[in-house]
Order: sequence, then C-alpha cells, then structure tokens
Amino acid sequence: MTFLRRLFGVLLLLLVAGALWFQIVQVPTIDGQMNAVIDHAPYPVSDAAQALHDDLYIADLHTDSLLWRRDVAKRQTYGHVDLPRLRDGGVELQVFSAVTQSPKGQNFAGNSSDAPDQITTLAQAQMWPFRTWGSIYERAAYQAQRLQKVERADKNKLVIARTAADLDQPDGTIVGILLTEGSHPLEGDINNIQRLYDEGYRAMGLQHFFDNRLGGSLHGETKGGLTTFGREAVAEMWRLSISVDLAHSSEAVVRDVLAMNNGGAVFISHGGVRGGCSVTNQRNLPSDLLKELARQGGIIGIGYFEGAICDITPAGIAGAIIDAVELVGIDAVALGSDFDGTVTTSLDTSELAAITQALLDRGMSERSIRAIMGGNARDFFQRTLPQ
Ligand SMILES: [Zn+2]
Repeated sequence: MTFLRRLFGVLLLLLVAGALWFQIVQVPTIDGQMNAVIDHAPYPVSDAAQALHDDLYIADLHTDSLLWRRDVAKRQTYGHVDLPRLRDGGVELQVFSAVTQSPKGQNFAGNSSDAPDQITTLAQAQMWPFRTWGSIYERAAYQAQRLQKVERADKNKLVIARTAADLDQPDGTIVGILLTEGSHPLEGDINNIQRLYDEGYRAMGLQHFFDNRLGGSLHGETKGGLTTFGREAVAEMWRLSISVDLAHSSEAVVRDVLAMNNGGAVFISHGGVRGGCSVTNQRNLPSDLLKELARQGGIIGIGYFEGAICDITPAGIAGAIIDAVELVGIDAVALGSDFDGTVTTSLDTSELAAITQALLDRGMSERSIRAIMGGNARDFFQRTLPQ
C-alpha cells in the first residue's frame, strides 16, 4: 500500500514536471522557431532617419501575437511583437488578428477544408480554456478576451479601439484593433458577428487558407465567390461599421465584395502586389482588383514575409512598398507585417526605423513616408470605425 502510494506520488510528480517543462521550455521554443527573425547585425539608421522615424505616427495592420501563449504586455526575447517592443519601434496603432483554424500542410496553392486543423493542437498544447478546443467561435472570443485583460490591467499601455475617438491616445499608449483572420468563427450563425463586435472586433477577414461557409479562399480548392451566407455576413459587418479584410480571399470573393460595396470599409491587412517573383502571384491579388479596392477607399498592408514580397530585407520591404504605391497610389499603402504569423522576418517590431531608413534610401519624400508608415492607416480607421 505504502509502496503503491509512493509510486503513484512519484508518477504524479513526473507528470507535473513534464507538463511544466513542456509549458515553460517547449512552448516558447516552438513559438520562437515559428516566428523567427533572421540573424543580422543592427541595421544602420542615420540620425536624420531616426529623427524622422521618432516623429512618425506608425501603424501596422496585422500581427498574430494573440495566438501564442505569451503576455503581450511583457518584453520577450523571441517572436516579433509585444507592447515594449512596439513602443521601441514607435508604433501607435497595432491591429491584432485572431487565427482560429489552420489546415495541416498549409500552403499558398490549395488546401482542403477537411484537412486536420493545427489550431486545435495549438490550443491544447498551450492549455487554452477547454471551451476553445472544440469551438472556432470561442477561439476568437478568447483571443479578444486576452487583449481585454491587457487593457484592463493598464489603460496607459493599451487601449482597444471600439470607436474612432479611441484612436486618440497619449504618447506611449498603444491602440489595438481586433481583427478575425477569416470568418469561420461565425460557425454559420450571422448573430455571431454581433457577439464578436461586442468582444471588441472591428475588422473581420472573410477567409483564411481554406474555403469556408462565406466563400472561397485564395488558397482553397474551389476559388469560388461569395455564398448567400457570405453576402449576408458582409452586409451585416458593414451595418456594424466592421471593416472587411480581403486578405486570403479568392479573386471571385474579392470581386463579389467590391461589386456589392456601397460605402463599406474594405482593406487588405497583410499582403502586397504581384512582384517580380512567382510566389507573390499565389499570395497576392491581381492588379485590377487592388486598384478597385483602392478606388473604394481601401488600404493594403505590405507584409514582411516571403510570399507577400520577394525580398524580406528592409530594402526589399521598401521596394515592395514602392511597387504598391506605383500601382494603387500613395494614399492606399500601409504596413501589414504579419508578425507572429508563423513567418520568418528580417526584423521584429522594435526595428521599424530600418524601414524608414530604407524608404529614405529609395528617395521617398518625408510626406509619403508619413502616409505609408501610419498616416494612411490612421485616416482609414478614423473614417471607418464607429463614430
Ligand atoms: Zn494571414
């Protein structure tokens, strides 16, 4: 009896130690590997570029930091984004995206909606609440609630923008805007748009890597347009002043949304234009659709990852920004890093001055740099958030 009890005690201890080891050592290690920054010497930034950078309003349209089990309020030594590093980089506005389902073997060419879901595994491995294991909706709600907790802890550090007036915050306070990466969290129920709005979401993507009940993904199997449910959902989003993110949507869906638009907000949170390498042709929309999106007041966040752009160095990011400006105009281009979105980048958010430097190196005017680095994004949300 005593022996059995002792054995049971030892086994329990081993189990707890193993679980702790997994949570404390393995989870951050996996996170760091999936959201890596390539080794580099500090990027040279001239005094003039730094002075300009320090004076900019900076906004980024896409980070997936809420997917990972870290406290975004605390500085981390891995991954791409947390509040201290956002402040180091001079960022005032950050869109936080919620990834809720992702097919195994995820790729730009084609994914099945039936492929095993990796976010279920991630939710379990990171010990997310049990309710998130089987519900896509709850995963979106939970990620919003995690950001709400950061906001409640210190409003001087972070405010979640629910109205346009929330954009005005004192220096050093980060404004967060919540975005769903795809609308599968609706789980086919239109009322979930209101529920997600109540959780603080003010932007919603329609698709991610697979076709869903709203329509086809750019990386799905059918490449189809909006379904009847998709049309209803988009109309309801606009009724609530939710901005519709067309990143990852099929060309047919984008065409349908732009055709039915009558003053609703559309944007692309992370992506780019089709550049000089083949991978961007799979990840980015054709020029005519991007031009129409810009004509409707939409903005395009330029990603820092391979796929959105050909060359992920700061000079390459600047080059992709300039290509986009040439296509859609100076008022329609913004930053859309996709930080912490299981991507490898050349910098983390504390190093954004390297992009300001690279844009100056390319001869971009100070006025244009202000627009790209955040002015356009601020104007967009000023115009589109509930007044
Ligand atoms: Zn994405």
